[in-house]
Amino acid sequence: MTRVTADVTFLRGYNQALVMAVGRTAGTFERATVVEATGLTPQAVSKVIARLTADGLIRPAGVRRPGIGKPAVVYELVPDSRYAIGAHVARRTLRLVLVDLAGTVHHSAVSPLPRDFTPEQLLDALATGVDTMAGVGDLRGRLTGLGIGMIGPLDHANGLVRDAHGLRHWHDVPLREIAEKHLGLPVHLDKDVTAGITAEAWRHGATFGDAALIMVESGIGAGFRLGGATHRGAHTNAGEFGHTVVDLTGPRCVCGRHGCLEIVHQHAAEAGDVAHAARVLAVGVVNLLQTLDLAHVVLAGADLLRHPQTYLSAVTGAVQADARRAAWLSTRVTVSSLGADVIAAGAAIQVLDQHYGIPALAAS
Ligand SMILES: [Zn+2]
Repeated sequence: MTRVTADVTFLRGYNQALVMAVGRTAGTFERATVVEATGLTPQAVSKVIARLTADGLIRPAGVRRPGIGKPAVVYELVPDSRYAIGAHVARRTLRLVLVDLAGTVHHSAVSPLPRDFTPEQLLDALATGVDTMAGVGDLRGRLTGLGIGMIGPLDHANGLVRDAHGLRHWHDVPLREIAEKHLGLPVHLDKDVTAGITAEAWRHGATFGDAALIMVESGIGAGFRLGGATHRGAHTNAGEFGHTVVDLTGPRCVCGRHGCLEIVHQHAAEAGDVAHAARVLAVGVVNLLQTLDLAHVVLAGADLLRHPQTYLSAVTGAVQADARRAAWLSTRVTVSSLGADVIAAGAAIQVLDQHYGIPALAAS
């Protein structure tokens, strides 16, 4: 049996994160709101509120005078008290965004990356981009760190890019460590799709159930949130959704299999038949729902976002047709509200989540 010892620092961080989560999702709040939402005692909440106010993370935003009883101080999160930068590293582009403590994207910039770029070339591009973003309003002192969402496979726990698909210079590169040294900032590294689903979960708050983010962008991947936590799999290799087979006699895929979702979709897209490509993706999504029983599917990725309506209606249609077998099955399908920024924003939010999120979840 594992013994769980009460760790005061952990508990303090945990309580603080609970209050921050209420602040993020509720807009304004008062002590009683937090007590009700978290189950903490009024005394504990008062302590946390005092500490967060002293740190500048929340501030009083007025007083509410109820008909009966004492007036209550109303608080709000201070969005510009902390920032994080998020990077979305794709095969040919680097997208950087600046995100505040509330999860709002402030700046977004895309720059080209050299074909088959090396780790050194990426580090230089990151350094230039981070300098530019941190220079806006001189944010250095309020910058929590840099999050990188990148093409996998990669080892999130050890900050290692194992073997980025289609990039020759990326085998077992300790990107987190070398980026921290190069940039002088804490760095968080994760797979692009995992960063993306984090952004969606953060923005939707507690109501976000089991969900997947499907990314169609020079390949097809999926990021998962299951049971309230990010799901990365036993080898941090979950989400190779594009390499599930949908046609046993289909064309040969880059991965060596025949008839993968990705290659069948790609053939349709290259032939200019977007409607068919969207239907192929929809078949994959329905397979995923049969396997995982998800409450929410978020569609994203540059290639998909060129025809969002076509993909949304194909996937929604397929999901509804499939769910007709059982009326109690319902899954929400949406296109990411963050658009092309979702991966970079999620990478930044992962940094904020590590510092200000609920510890048990941030550690996963
Ligand atoms: Zn494949």
